[in-house]
Amino acid sequence: MSTLIKMSNGHPSSYSHFGNQQQQVRGDARLDEHSGQADRGERMEQIFGADVFSERVMQQRLPKDVFKRMQLTIQHGEPLDADLADIVASAMKEWSLDRGATHYTHWFQPLTGLTAEKHDSFIAPDGRGGAITEFSGTALVQGEPDASSFPSGGLRATFEARGYTAWDCTSPVFINRNGGSATLCIPTAFVSWTGVALDTKVPLLRSMEAVSDQAMRVLRIFGTATGVTRVMATAGCEQEYFLIDRAHYFAREDLLSCDRTLFGAKPPKGQQLEDHYFGSIPTRVIAFMGESERELYRLGVPLKTRHNEVAPGQFEFAPIFETANVASDHQMLVMETLRRVAARHNLACILHEKPFKGINGSGKHLNWSMSTNTGVNLLDPRDDTHSNMQFLVFLCAVIRAVDMHADLLRASVASAANDHRLGANEAPPAIISIYLGDMLTNIVEQLEKGGAKSTIKGGKLDLGASTLPQIPRHTGDRNRTSPFAFTGNKFEFRAVGSSQSVGWPATVLNTIVSDSLDYCATRLEKELGEKFTEAKLQSAVRGMLQELVKKHKRVLFDGDGYTKDWHAEAAKRGLPNLTESVAALSVLKVKKNVDLFKRFNVLTKQEVESREHIFLEKYVKQVLIEAETALVMGRTQILPAALRQQIELAEVVAVTRAADADESEARTALDDFIGLVNNLRNAIKTLEEATTADEHEGEIHSHAEHVRDDIRPAMNALRDAADAVEMSVAADLWPLPTYRAMLSIR
Ligand code: ADP
Ligand code: MG
Repeated sequence: MSTLIKMSNGHPSSYSHFGNQQQQVRGDARLDEHSGQADRGERMEQIFGADVFSERVMQQRLPKDVFKRMQLTIQHGEPLDADLADIVASAMKEWSLDRGATHYTHWFQPLTGLTAEKHDSFIAPDGRGGAITEFSGTALVQGEPDASSFPSGGLRATFEARGYTAWDCTSPVFINRNGGSATLCIPTAFVSWTGVALDTKVPLLRSMEAVSDQAMRVLRIFGTATGVTRVMATAGCEQEYFLIDRAHYFAREDLLSCDRTLFGAKPPKGQQLEDHYFGSIPTRVIAFMGESERELYRLGVPLKTRHNEVAPGQFEFAPIFETANVASDHQMLVMETLRRVAARHNLACILHEKPFKGINGSGKHLNWSMSTNTGVNLLDPRDDTHSNMQFLVFLCAVIRAVDMHADLLRASVASAANDHRLGANEAPPAIISIYLGDMLTNIVEQLEKGGAKSTIKGGKLDLGASTLPQIPRHTGDRNRTSPFAFTGNKFEFRAVGSSQSVGWPATVLNTIVSDSLDYCATRLEKELGEKFTEAKLQSAVRGMLQELVKKHKRVLFDGDGYTKDWHAEAAKRGLPNLTESVAALSVLKVKKNVDLFKRFNVLTKQEVESREHIFLEKYVKQVLIEAETALVMGRTQILPAALRQQIELAEVVAVTRAADADESEARTALDDFIGLVNNLRNAIKTLEEATTADEHEGEIHSHAEHVRDDIRPAMNALRDAADAVEMSVAADLWPLPTYRAMLSIR
């Protein structure tokens, strides 16, 4: 436990260092669960953070010396002593009871990809027929959930069921309101009783520590570390999602069980007209958005942007960035809240990466940078970028990291769901490359030649009408086809899937960049020694950057990532193209990667291997559930509908013949349709055979390969057969909500 407190290097309100948001916590904010109603008429800054035990609340509620000591623990990782924990726990309890809470829970993120909680009431009998409330420091700091029902990837036998949760005081405690119940939630790490990380938080915190240590070394070399105690990875996660009518969701087995449609012919109007993106937001949707925002504001989640996305029925939320750990916790709350609030609006929020075939899927762009605790963004190029050597070191460190560990980045977003998206012509390809834009590309080219002497300026754009302002023009366009793009003062990792936790991709990004910063710092420290002049520093850095660019420029690509040419070119450059998840996940245990995680104390070999196992297992389970669902729907809904249609067509033939009319056209239609039905039957049979041939007890790799090579293609074939039938069945006989109906959310 104390190690977790030790490694903590943020503090509950650490995000106030970066964003312009302010936590405003007022004791008088309303407590009603359906805060959407209750909050109307309140100023939003009063709502924001109302359910967060923030630094501000601590200052109000804790004795002065305890508040100070608490901040020391939180900010400098000093161990929390037991009596301090008792006082903090008591203040938390009183604060949450004041706000209507009845229960508390350790809130953690096991490797299911979801959050977990087990509530305990504050209540304790007083022995005289009444009750008191209790919440001890021990209960705050440590929990002991049964770990045996969470994925461990073979890390422990089921008889070793003990697991621990440990308070992560870098992420603020909050009150979760649901179904009229208010629960005090304590963000915690989750480990096995031998201390092995069983969650996404522990490695993320460890990787943030690594980034901080290595980035500080670089700052010290540049003499910019004065007053800085740590560097934090920052993250802002754009969340794409679909909304459909809840009745449609419940009318489809596939959505209910798999969160995506396994069948469905293309609608006549898809996204061809491009009329949805940034379109005016439908009333029903904005009601949902507003309520989601108000709930998330109460939890201190700084949502900033909302808009329609490209596909019909698709929307997006984006928050202001925060420290990566807090952003990751908040991201989980965003997903949970969207699902919950949607239900109240008779909507279903679909977070799956590819719910509808032939329609854009959903991603979660992970915007990432590094910032000092004094608020300096280390990826901010500033004005005369060519002379900003420190920025160029951080930039080239990221370039090196992505080139050397593109395989790991790709693995960090691998899932059965994301396979439908990556590489299709809507999302970045599975080839990981970096887009820099004109200005930085030009500087990098100069660096390669031995030193940068100028920065391209964007200039002004004259709109040709005197009443319109002249606007400053960016030096580079956007490139939506790049999986990893520099966007002004941060990188945007766009291959992340919409339903996944950002904790894992952020962990990988932090780790690979730590490795590069370590490389740069070590090299410069060696070359420069203890004392050196500015000129010597400049020349050492120039030499290093030149070499880095030469070595790693193959990962830079500013063109259209969707084209075949790029695939060929990337192959020529030797960039990995892991087109599907089984291959992508298999790189985790490669020695280079295991060593890397170990070197930066992010994951042990055992922890890496368990993750590979858990992710493959999840892949297998997800696809098998889909296959079973497809079979049930095929057998019990689609085939019966087809047979009814067949009867109708046969009747038409008989009736036409009985009327002495020419039945040959009707006959052809019937024959054609019987052909479609036979295809459907055969496809069902093939998928049945593929699923029954599924015998891979205990060998997860061959099992995943079987699922990939036999079951997925059989599912695709069944889908094609069923979609062809759908196009020929009378609308009143078709048992499923159609794409057209589902995607017309108004
Ligand atoms: P864009 O339009 O290029 O996507 P935005 O300014 O809209 O850029 O930002 C998109 C996301 O990037 C937001 O969630 C924002 O908070 C996040 N972001 C901005 N700066 C940073 C940063 N320094 N570190 C991490 N995320 C950032
Ligand atoms: Mg963006």
